[in-house]
Amino acid sequence: MEYTFPRVSPSAFSLQNRQDMGKEKTVLWRAIFFEVWGETEMKNVPADMEGFLSHQPWWRTRVPTEIIRSREGVGELLRRLERENRNPFFVVDSVLLNQPVFASLLGQKALYLFDASASEPKTGDVDTVVSMVKSASKAHDVVVGIGGGATMDLAKAVGICLANPGPAQTYQGYGLDMKKGADIWVLPTLSGTGAEITPIAVLRGPEKKLGINNPYTAPSVAVIDPGLTSGVRKYNRFFTLMDCYFHHYEIVNSRTSSEDAVSDARDGLSLSRNILMSGVGEFRMDNAVRSAMASILGGSSTIGGRVGAAHAVSYGLSNSGPALPHSVAVTISMLALRELYPEGYEDTVSFLRGNGMEVPKAGDFGIGAKDVEKMTKTALGMEKLWQSCFGDRWKERATEEYIREIYERIVSL
Ligand code: NAD
Ligand code: ZN
Repeated sequence: MEYTFPRVSPSAFSLQNRQDMGKEKTVLWRAIFFEVWGETEMKNVPADMEGFLSHQPWWRTRVPTEIIRSREGVGELLRRLERENRNPFFVVDSVLLNQPVFASLLGQKALYLFDASASEPKTGDVDTVVSMVKSASKAHDVVVGIGGGATMDLAKAVGICLANPGPAQTYQGYGLDMKKGADIWVLPTLSGTGAEITPIAVLRGPEKKLGINNPYTAPSVAVIDPGLTSGVRKYNRFFTLMDCYFHHYEIVNSRTSSEDAVSDARDGLSLSRNILMSGVGEFRMDNAVRSAMASILGGSSTIGGRVGAAHAVSYGLSNSGPALPHSVAVTISMLALRELYPEGYEDTVSFLRGNGMEVPKAGDFGIGAKDVEKMTKTALGMEKLWQSCFGDRWKERATEEYIREIYERIVSL
């Protein structure tokens, strides 16, 4: 079965008069808009596994990752490792222990179980796993990450840090001279972050939350089996897809992203938005397939594209809220950026309401007025993201006062 989804142009879905319309009218308007705006449609979007497996590659950006689509991802991954005579080390989200489909992985000897529900990966976790891998009698030549963005990022960081002597925190940043480590393979079990493609491993360090940004951090192989996401709770399915939407929305609205990145992000925006509008509740294979597609577009569009203000603001929140998940941090940020991102704001409100989710608040994660100065300083430092949002004259817009005012609004809710 196949559907045709509309591709979303930022100017076309920016509705000047939407605030004056009732909710029903907005829905009707969207339906009409989707129908008439035919020329930029993303064609033949698959709605089941058959369609997903046979679909042409849907991303334009050249990605360094070999993307293998499969209806039996765990077996495919293990067979491939065996065929290539590899000596893998597995980093697996411990939540998967309870799911029979992952049973054959958990019998592996070289394995680190990571509890992604307790925390995002820390630089200390990377150092721990690196020393485990190094202590093996026979060198591991591939690190395999199995889980959501958090677990994949941990595996990615371990892979590169294996060849670099310093502790992981010394490599948080951009443009650092690093050697290639072990190969990195991934098997995502939650779709949305795009971490299965990106050359970024986001880590919480003692001083800051910041990624290792390096081409050697990109996975060389990603096995994509949308069915593996069937055990994800609605809360995680929803917020990770929100993050996917925010990546696409911000890249579409970016001033510094490449043409291919923006085209990929447009398709990803249309896919993620459509799923969030249709309801992210129980597992549905059609939504799982499209979420996997949107997630890959999130990864591909990140290669030539860059997110913007909502992510810049989210990093300040994350640094002050150790328990605040990334996706929730960006949601809180988008809700404070109504004037800058009116469509993003309105969509976020609709998605939360339509899916029966509570509006997240910074206060629920222990963030308050005491944190405003520190958060402002962190966000001010995200120069590339402000430039992406405002263009070359970003310094005139992203001033200290402007950013402080955003945080004051956030903590006053
Ligand atoms: P996650 O990996 O933190 O997982 C969220 C929850 O879902 C966890 O409790 C996890 O155990 C659970 N889960 C995962 N797969 C499951 C399954 N199949 N069944 C049941 N439960 C499952 O969530 P995420 O949103 O995918 O990743 C967030 C992390 O990714 C953050 O650390 C963020 O900084 C990072 N990130 C990285 C990139 C990148 O390009 N590298 C991009 C965006 C976000
Ligand atoms: Zn994000």
